[in-house]
Amino acid sequence: MKCAICQNGETSSGFITVVLEKGETTLLFKKVPAQICENCGEEYLASDINRGLLEKANDAVKRGIDFEMLRFAA
Ligand SMILES: [Zn+2]
Repeated sequence: MKCAICQNGETSSGFITVVLEKGETTLLFKKVPAQICENCGEEYLASDINRGLLEKANDAVKRGIDFEMLRFAA
């Protein structure tokens, strides 16, 4: 798809690292599938991926995790 930020680049599929902070909890997700703009580097997450990350974050908050590094699996 065309990048919405720079309106110039095309995005391509790749993997990114996402850091989520929620209260006292910090989560680092590796290998999250995303679309990345070849021009400006803007990263786009699909909405179901985004929802999956938030669910895992909520779960970690419930478990009282301070920091956790996870490999994302869709
Ligand atoms: Zn761009």
